[in-house]
Amino acid sequence: MPGRSSRVVFMGAITITLATAGLVIGQDKPAKTKHGFKDTPMLPGGKWHVHDSDRPLPPVVTPGTCGTRDEPGKPPSDAVVLFDGKDLSAWSDDRGGSARWDVKEGAIVIRAGGGVIRTRQEFGDCQLHLEFAEPTPPRGDDQGRGNSGVLFFGRYEIQVLDNHDNPTYADGHVGAVYGQFPPLVNASREPGQWQTYDIMFTAPRFKDDGSVAARAHVTVLLNGVLVQNHTPILAPMAYRALAKYQAHGPKGPLVLQDHGNPVRFRNIWIRELHERP
Ligand code: MG
Repeated sequence: MPGRSSRVVFMGAITITLATAGLVIGQDKPAKTKHGFKDTPMLPGGKWHVHDSDRPLPPVVTPGTCGTRDEPGKPPSDAVVLFDGKDLSAWSDDRGGSARWDVKEGAIVIRAGGGVIRTRQEFGDCQLHLEFAEPTPPRGDDQGRGNSGVLFFGRYEIQVLDNHDNPTYADGHVGAVYGQFPPLVNASREPGQWQTYDIMFTAPRFKDDGSVAARAHVTVLLNGVLVQNHTPILAPMAYRALAKYQAHGPKGPLVLQDHGNPVRFRNIWIRELHERP
C-alpha cells in the first residue's frame, strides 16, 4: 500500500487500527522521506531501493493528440517533427540533395522514380509515428499494390503495402519485417483511409571487431494493433535473400522507400530513446 503503514493495537476487547502516512508506532523517525523510501530492499543492480526517494523523476512530456480522417494529430512535445504537412525540409534524396517527392494537401506523395527519401537527421533507438494512405482506386496486385517501406538506418525495413484484399507472401505483408517476419495479424485498412504506424526500434550493437553484439529489435503497432512484439531483426532488408549484418554507427537516417506507387504520408514524428538514468 503506497505511503501508508498500519499497526493493530489491542486494548482489551477493542481493536484500533492506526493508518498513518509514514508514522510507524514504536519508531522515533518516520521511515518515509519526502516521496519514497530508503529502507526498502535494493533492486537488482544495487543502485536504487524499491520506491527510492532519490531516484530521478521522469521528464514531463505533453502528449500529442489523435488524428481524424481529415486532420492529423499533434506530436508529443519532445518529438522531432519530420513532416508537419508543409514541406520536405527534414528530408533529402539518397545523395543529400532535395527530396524529389511531392507535397499535396498536407501530405507527402511518393513520386514514382523520385527515389527514396531519407531524413537529414540521424537516429538510433527511437519511437516513430507516421500515417500513410494507400492509393485509391487501388492499382496492381501482390507486391505491386501500394508498396513502400520504412527503413531504419536505411536498411531494416518495416513493410508498407496495401494488403486490403490483396494477398501476397506472408513476410511481405504490411507490418512485416520484410523478408523475415510476417505481422502477427493483418490489421490493414481500406485504400484511401489513413493508417497509423507506431514503431519502437532498438538499434543493433556491434563489437569492436564488427561482429554483432545484439541484434536490432522492433515493436510495431499498425492502426493500434500489435503486429511485431520485440521482434529480433535478422539482417538488413533483402529481396529473395537473407543478408548479413554489417557494422555501422549508433545512428542512421530513416528512409522511406519509392516502389513506384503513389503512397501518401502525413504526421511523421520521432522521439529519440535514451538509456534509463
Ligand atoms: Mg517495401
